[in-house]
Amino acid sequence: MAIPVLSKAARRACDHVRRSGCGIYDERPEPCRAFHCLWLRGAVGAAIESRPDALGVMFDQCTLRGSGELITVAYELWNGAFAAPEARSAIEAVAASLSPAALALSHYDRSWSELHVER
Ligand code: SF4
Repeated sequence: MAIPVLSKAARRACDHVRRSGCGIYDERPEPCRAFHCLWLRGAVGAAIESRPDALGVMFDQCTLRGSGELITVAYELWNGAFAAPEARSAIEAVAASLSPAALALSHYDRSWSELHVER
């Protein structure tokens, strides 16, 4: 995610990320403290296999500027992550749970697409 206060662009590694996690965890800025992906919120299942760093997919919801529309997004965290069967299954389950059953997909190469699921 973009963290303007850190001059961190979206889809760029943060300068503070370390092998063990955040290198400034106790002093991390408010946007980092406030961010909770859908896994952390318990909305995509609590299984450790569904955690973004295991699945390669992070789900989030955000509001579109202008329209104010709330959208759900699946972010591909490494190249090819969306193609794994476990990731595909999670993506389809999340999409099917939405109304309408559509999920925005943010691909690792920065392209976007949308998935519509038949129910
Ligand atoms: S939580 Fe830490 S590593 Fe992650 S974006 Fe914020 S400052 Fe960077």
